[in-house]
Amino acid sequence: MNDSIHQREEARRAHDAPLFADMAGDIDVSFEFFPPKTEKMEATLWDSIQALAPLGPRFVSVTYGAGGSTRERTHATVARIARETSLAAAAHLTCVEATKEEIDAVAEEYWAAGVRHIVALRGDPPTAGSKYQMHPGGYENAAALVAGLRKLHPFEISVAAYPECHPDSADEQADLDNLKRKMDAGANRAITQFFFDPDHFFRFRDKAAAAGITAEIVPGIMPVMNYASVERMSKMCGTQVPSWMGRLFEGLDDHPEARQLVSATIAAELCRKLYAGGERNFHFYTLNRAELSYAICHLLGVRPKPGAEAAAA
Ligand SMILES: Cc1cc2nc3c(=O)[nH]c(=O)nc-3n(C[C@H](O)[C@H](O)[C@H](O)COP(=O)(O)OP(=O)(O)OC[C@H]3O[C@@H](n4cnc5c(N)ncnc54)[C@H](O)[C@@H]3O)c2cc1C
Repeated sequence: MNDSIHQREEARRAHDAPLFADMAGDIDVSFEFFPPKTEKMEATLWDSIQALAPLGPRFVSVTYGAGGSTRERTHATVARIARETSLAAAAHLTCVEATKEEIDAVAEEYWAAGVRHIVALRGDPPTAGSKYQMHPGGYENAAALVAGLRKLHPFEISVAAYPECHPDSADEQADLDNLKRKMDAGANRAITQFFFDPDHFFRFRDKAAAAGITAEIVPGIMPVMNYASVERMSKMCGTQVPSWMGRLFEGLDDHPEARQLVSATIAAELCRKLYAGGERNFHFYTLNRAELSYAICHLLGVRPKPGAEAAAA
């Protein structure tokens, strides 16, 4: 039988597997959660934090709802993590619909609660699809917020980065210039929007380096729990969803467990390729569910760290 070059290449790749056999356990991870709305969701969140804590994350972060809608809940969640666990807690904070004084007051509350890490963001307009308007007395954008936070306390500050460009940016260069402004204002690292093609990340990493951005850029990993909602979100934030991914989730609507296995496989493979390209830090969008992120971390060689079990006691 005459194999085509393509077939031979496929066979070589399959033969070179197993993909995860040689993971050296040299990966550090962080986990992102959103503030719970109900008691039941709160219980799920805490179960997830407890399940993931033994992996010894660098930090766990809690998002801030559009227009500051979760201000109290974000604060309560982050403060509880800081109070009741030994995990490093990070609070997301946005500029939307608030004066500088109001935002500074929130940051001061975090400092007083022992929170030393802020994920500083501009945020999105409260009405989806409308153009972002800065509050007349507020911070103009994330770069201005970073500069404002730097004046308050020596926070560790993370900012957002966009391997496939932010939809509001004029072009790729404008987006990189914006990221550079955030770094120059005093951010310590960037965490990326989710993406599904490792090449998008690698190209972005190269361009950021060429633009003089030396701080770490941590890939944000979104394990797909619900394909339809990820497709919707991707459209809004400009992330390309490869067509093969739709095919992989086809017919799985009524098979949640199979969906999880598929999802873990896709995300772990993405991380494996990023690892092969030199990445050692990963930020997981957990959507408050531990199992998927835990399984992916496990495949990547991340194991419970001695002493970290007590982190969420
Ligand atoms: C890791 C991560 C976590 C996130 N967490 C949250 C969260 O908790 N809550 C939430 O509401 N949203 C969150 N977001 C979404 C984020 O708020 C949106 O993507 C928002 O639209 C942009 O925020 P930013 O901080 O990137 O904005 P910025 O960096 O300020 O910039 C946004 C866009 O505007 C352009 N721009 C900014 N300033 C200027 C200027 N002066 N002139 C020209 N163009 C300019 C930039 O080029 C960029 O394209 C998160 C995103 C990421 C990647």
